[in-house]
Formats: sequence, structure tokens, C-alpha cells
Amino acid sequence: MDKLKSHVEVLSSKAVYEKSLLKLDELIQLVNEVLGTLEGDTDSNSQWKTQRQEGDGKITKRLKIASKSASAFAKEVQKKCTTTKNYMAKEFKAVYNKAQKLNETVPAAFPYDLRKLLSPCSFKKSAIIDLIIDSFCRQGRLSLAKRLMFEAPSGRSKAADHTTLQSYRRLFAIRNALMRKDERPALEWLAVQQQLEDKGLNKQDMEDSKNTEVRLRNLSFELHKLHFLNILEEAAAESVDPQGHRAHQQRAVTYAREFLGVFYPTHAREIGKLTTLLLFSHDLMNSPSAHLFTPHLVHNITSLFEREYYHSIGLPLLDPLFTTLDAGFTCLPHTLKVQQLISENPGLLQTEDDSIKADIHLGDHLQFHSTFVCPISKDMATEANPPLLLKCGHAISTDAMLKIISSSPRRNFKCPTCPTEQRPCDTLTLHL
Ligand SMILES: [Zn+2]
Repeated sequence: MDKLKSHVEVLSSKAVYEKSLLKLDELIQLVNEVLGTLEGDTDSNSQWKTQRQEGDGKITKRLKIASKSASAFAKEVQKKCTTTKNYMAKEFKAVYNKAQKLNETVPAAFPYDLRKLLSPCSFKKSAIIDLIIDSFCRQGRLSLAKRLMFEAPSGRSKAADHTTLQSYRRLFAIRNALMRKDERPALEWLAVQQQLEDKGLNKQDMEDSKNTEVRLRNLSFELHKLHFLNILEEAAAESVDPQGHRAHQQRAVTYAREFLGVFYPTHAREIGKLTTLLLFSHDLMNSPSAHLFTPHLVHNITSLFEREYYHSIGLPLLDPLFTTLDAGFTCLPHTLKVQQLISENPGLLQTEDDSIKADIHLGDHLQFHSTFVCPISKDMATEANPPLLLKCGHAISTDAMLKIISSSPRRNFKCPTCPTEQRPCDTLTLHL
């Protein structure tokens, strides 16, 4: 892989076409000049034709001069084309030679034929396109996303595409305002979300709704906190003008009473720290809460807002395309090992559907909710096949237990991990 990296680096350092581009620009300029001159001549030509119709004897001679200059121009352009082409060929040859070497390095760096691992049928093309579109949107490349929506419709409606683009435009507008320490657009958006929450219009279950309510409240506090700190900064900036300074201080007090007071039951400690800052409004950086005036605060509040925004449009904060690739790269070495094992032991794969179930741990950063994989069947727990807590404290899936007791005439069974004997009525269904 290191060899491949160095090849790519050399190739990108060689692949500089500045001189070729310069020559091309010169050629384009020449062609434009010639076109301009010839167009001018054509205007004159029409004049000459008119004059000839009127019987002017000098016209034939002037036409000859015009055609001679056009042919001279053509030769000049042709010559320039040839020199530019030769120059570009010379510059590209160096890159081409390096690129040729990649043909040998790439297969050596990837000794596995991934096509054997992946079945194209297992990928839903439209889902992949949707992932790519969403990724472009998240990166702010909305025109590219729009182009892809147009070229690869994949069953989405135009209205849905329009809504997606609008959602991202709004997200970026609010986020940019927050980065400028302007919290008003975020507060406007939040007010609408809280209204929807109050009316129960957001489709969530009770517990999720309660969590959302708490998170929205926290975000609301953070946004008002940002505004309060902005006023204090304005006050500190006017510390040389006692009257102006007092006016800003008074504004901060009024704002705290009106907007921070409602958070007192849940954020009393933080409100205490914020109001203490009023005593340091001449020199905020020497206050005990000086850290609140660093860019970290705006960054953290922006992240909180983004999390809520994505939640409101039913999307995760992390780019699902990168999450998918991350999971794929983590699984790949394990999958390759399994593939090697199968190719070395052809008799190994004798399952009903010619497949092997392997439990691959993706790491904590890729765990988004509680999961249970049955140690017997290797199946992921579902609502139809929930995990069962056995009398001995071990857990297996419901299907695995049913399979075990199906061969037991007394309908009792032994725990597959420890040999504790038990009956189905001894087990407890676990809810994840
Ligand atoms: Zn057990």
C-alpha cells in the first residue's frame, strides 16, 4: 500500500498541466482574434457585394485580398494548433508513463478479488444514490446534489427533492448565522420545533418525545446564553464610556430576567455563573467564566443545534455514507479471512442457503442502539425473535430456544452455554 501511495504522490506531482493550459489559452485567444477579424471582413464583404451589384470595378481585386488574408489566418491557426498539440503530447507523455506503472502497482496493492465477496444484487441502487445525494447536501454541494437528483431520480418525487434541498439551505443559513454569533434564526427555528412538540405533531413515541423536549429546552437555554454573553461583550467593548457600558449592562440584566429566568428550575447553577459575569463586565477575560468567551462555546452550540436539526428531519448527525463506508472497511478484513477459510475448506459451507453468519464487532462508535446477537444462531434479535434471559443468567434468541425444545420430548432444555436444565416458562423476554 505504501508503494501505491508513493506512486499516486509522484503521479499527482507530475500531473501539472499549467504550461499546456497556457498554450491552449494562447491558441483560443488566436482563434478568437482571427474570428473577430474575419467577421469584420464579412461585414465589409457584404458591402463589396452591394458595391459590385452597383458595377464598381475595384471589387474583384478587394475580394481577392480578403480571401488571401483568410487563408493566411487559417495557416497561422493550423500552425499554432500543431505546436500546441505537440507540446501537450510531450507534457502528457511523462504523466502517461507514470500512470502506466500504476497498472502494475494497483493489483499488487489489492490482492483480493472483492467481486467474489460482494453480490451486486444485495445492493439497492436507489439507496446508494440517496446516500450519495445526502452526502453531497451535507458537504454543502447542493448544486451537485441537485444535478444527481435530476440525472438519477431513483423513485423520489420532485417535491421531496425540493424539500431536501430547502432543508439543507435552511440548516446552512442558521449554522452560518450561529458561527457569526447570531442566534436569532436558530431561536426562530427552535420556537417552531417546540410548538410542533407541544402539539404532538412530531411522530415519536412517548419516551422519545420526552427526550426531545429536554434536548430542545437545553438548546434553547444555550442560545439565550449566547445572546446574554454577546450583550456582555458589547458592554466590555464600551468599558471606557461609563454611560454606554451601564446601558449594555442594564440590557443584559433585562435579557436575563426575561429569557434566562424560565430555565432557573433546571439550570440554576449555570444561571448563577452567568449573572456573576455582570460583576466582571469591564474585564470579562479575567472572570471565573472566561472560557465562555472562546470559540469553543459557539462551536459546541452549533453542534447541539445541528444534532437537533438533523433529528427534526429524521436524519442522523453523522453522514450515513461515511458510516456505511466505515462499517464496510471494518468488516472487510474479517470477511476476507472467512472467504480464505472457505476456499481452503470447501466442505465448510454446507448451510441451507450457502451462507455463513459471522458476528463482527464494529467498535463502539458504530453502535447506535442496543443490539443482541444470539450466541447460538448468530441472528440479530428482532421484535419477532426477541432475546430470552435464561434461569442461569445466559441469554439466547427465542428461535434458538424453540429449535432446541423441538427435539426434546419433555419440552425442557439445557442452556447451551452452561448445562443448567430449565423449561420455557423459566425464561424472561428481554426488551431492547
Ligand atoms: Zn447458562
